[in-house]
Amino acid sequence: MGTGIEESLLEQGPDAYLLLTADGTIAFVNAAAERLFGYPREQLLGVGHNILLSEDERGGFLRVFGRLGRGSDAGRRPFAAAGRRRDGSELPLEITCSLVTVDAGTAMAVAVRDGSHREDTDSGRRLAVSLLDATLETTADGIVVVSNEGLITGVNDQYLKLWGMPPELIAAEDPTALVTFIAQQLLDPDDFLQKVTELHADRGKQSHDVLEFIDGRTVELYSRPQKVADEIVGRIWNFRDITTRQRAQDQARRAMDELAEQTDKLKELAFQDPLTGLANRMLFNERAAAALLTPGPVHVLLLDLDDFKEVNDVLGHHAGDEMLVEVSRRLQKCVGPHGTVARLGGDEFVVLLVDCNDSDTVAQRIVATLNAPVSIEGTLMRPGLSLGVASRGPGTMTSSELLRQADLAMYAAKEAGKNCYVHFRPEMLAALLERTQLTAGLRRAVELGQINVHYQPVVSSEQLEVVQFEALARWQWEGRLMPPDQFIQTAERSGLIRDIGAEVLRRSCTELQPWLAEDPRRTLAVNVSGVQLQHPDFAERVLDIAAWSGVDPHQLVLEVTESVFFDAQCHVITQLVTLRGAGVRVALDDFGTGYSSLGRLQELPVDIVKIDKSFVSMLRTGTEKLPILTSMIHMALSLGLKVTAEGIETPEQARYLMDHGCDALQGFLFSRPEPEARRELGIRNSLAAIAALESVPLPA
Ligand code: C2E
Ligand code: CA
Ligand code: CA
Repeated sequence: MGTGIEESLLEQGPDAYLLLTADGTIAFVNAAAERLFGYPREQLLGVGHNILLSEDERGGFLRVFGRLGRGSDAGRRPFAAAGRRRDGSELPLEITCSLVTVDAGTAMAVAVRDGSHREDTDSGRRLAVSLLDATLETTADGIVVVSNEGLITGVNDQYLKLWGMPPELIAAEDPTALVTFIAQQLLDPDDFLQKVTELHADRGKQSHDVLEFIDGRTVELYSRPQKVADEIVGRIWNFRDITTRQRAQDQARRAMDELAEQTDKLKELAFQDPLTGLANRMLFNERAAAALLTPGPVHVLLLDLDDFKEVNDVLGHHAGDEMLVEVSRRLQKCVGPHGTVARLGGDEFVVLLVDCNDSDTVAQRIVATLNAPVSIEGTLMRPGLSLGVASRGPGTMTSSELLRQADLAMYAAKEAGKNCYVHFRPEMLAALLERTQLTAGLRRAVELGQINVHYQPVVSSEQLEVVQFEALARWQWEGRLMPPDQFIQTAERSGLIRDIGAEVLRRSCTELQPWLAEDPRRTLAVNVSGVQLQHPDFAERVLDIAAWSGVDPHQLVLEVTESVFFDAQCHVITQLVTLRGAGVRVALDDFGTGYSSLGRLQELPVDIVKIDKSFVSMLRTGTEKLPILTSMIHMALSLGLKVTAEGIETPEQARYLMDHGCDALQGFLFSRPEPEARRELGIRNSLAAIAALESVPLPA
């Protein structure tokens, strides 16, 4: 190994020298090396150089060897490393390496200096380097670190793998070649090259880019300066393959798009009435709420078909559906594209008009158009409707408030005789409140047995005696008697009339049974509402009560008004026929006030007509000519019916009616309706009135 002088120079020099073979084995050490590391020469020769390095450094040292082998400059300049002495203590080293050719081939000459004097300034660098090394080994990213001078100071396997980069290219230490190699794999190489130039020009710059590969991969590039103790020493290029993530994201995005599309469809379905294709309640509410946020006029037209139930019942559901589809078609035509027509369910439809200044025209058009005949399964029908209109007034309103108002107006339209439209008025709200309170109170009254009966006598013209009592319902309410005019309608609407009617019949039968039993010619008259007659078991119930209280059905008169024959479902007639078959008689109450022509009288299953008091009250002196009144009486008599006149208040009226052939008389002249306890008084008063009649002069 060289000359003697050289050898002694090496041996005696102040710096430590080592010679390493290609596999890192120590082939030579000098005295300074012995001193520096604290090993006797025999223990070092032939062993791996690693024992002289701290744990962290061991990989790095061989790398230097490798690079030197590839002709790189690295190591020829001093670099820092951490060494370890025999006693285990660590020491900072400053190392310079070079390749030498020896007999066995290439070896590395290593000059080692104690770097303690540089310790302070270099500790930051050492930490940074060791951290970087650790990062390089563990990360999944491809990383390359390039020094300011253009040297590759760090690179990991992932980097090579990512680009399919041959190791020779790294060994060449030519960053331009690296950049070119990368660029040719990209979809947009120019963009990348420009980026690199930019980053090269500005050392402090950080960047984040996404690179698209020709082969379809996507790689994220982070580039940031490498700093040591605040000094920029190079640049770190961090590449991350995000192809899988990107694909997953794309997939997720596509799934989301699909979902959104489906949701739209579902939403559409959720907003649509499946039968008619019209908007449903939800969509109506949404649109109404949106309209109410705008300042213009907003109208809600609520309508309901009048005899839809019959169409369904008589012609079947299929016909019903056909009718609904036809109605929705007509509605849409009336409203046009600027309004929303929605079906709320059943036969209830609603129209929302926004920014329309003439809701009346639309309402009129709807009433007229819907009522035109339609052929459903061969049957010609006219869809009847009741329409309520509510408009947004001053002040804020919710769509449900508007709908409620339209509902009240629709209710009023029904009352007003159907096939018309009615605008909401605030009084309707008050009326509703009253009705609901009344219904609740009435229900309680029925349960508590607070429905009483008063009796008004009816006098026979022939016998001049009380031959009948009419039972009249009274509601004992908060210490006073509520007249039936104020609660019968409510009772009819709520269905409570069934219970009230049954109670009146039961009570009056029980209370009057002894009086009736005294004379078979005596009768009890009870008022019956159309609602009661609609129950198929009505006749049976009446006969049951009569039997249970011991009243002969022949002594029972049921008073009905003409209206029960209007909606004449046939079983109303059947009920009356059954009852009459059992001996019960039927009186047509309030006769003359209804619409039925006198001619119809003979078709109806009635025995008695009760001439309404409005006709009686026309009689003042008893001398006037009252052709309608007299022909009514004669007509009924000629049909073989009995005639009762009600509302008689004066002896003149009584005389006149007796003289014109009325069979029975009733009115305050004889007696007011009285409770059971004072029924006898009613009889006495009646008899007194009859006696007084004798003295009434006959009209001339
Ligand atoms: P209505 O059946 O026509 O009963 C006769 C009404 O005329 C009774 O009124 C009676 O008090 C009244 N009245 C009798 N004589 C005179 C008179 O000379 N002058 C005047 N101004 N009025 C007279 P009320 O008791 O208030 O009954 C009113 C209506 O309520 C009844 O009219 C009837 O339609 C109905 N109603 C009463 N009780 C019942 C019932 O139990 N069931 C049903 N469904 N309706 C009933
Ligand atoms: Ca009556
Ligand atoms: Ca009457």
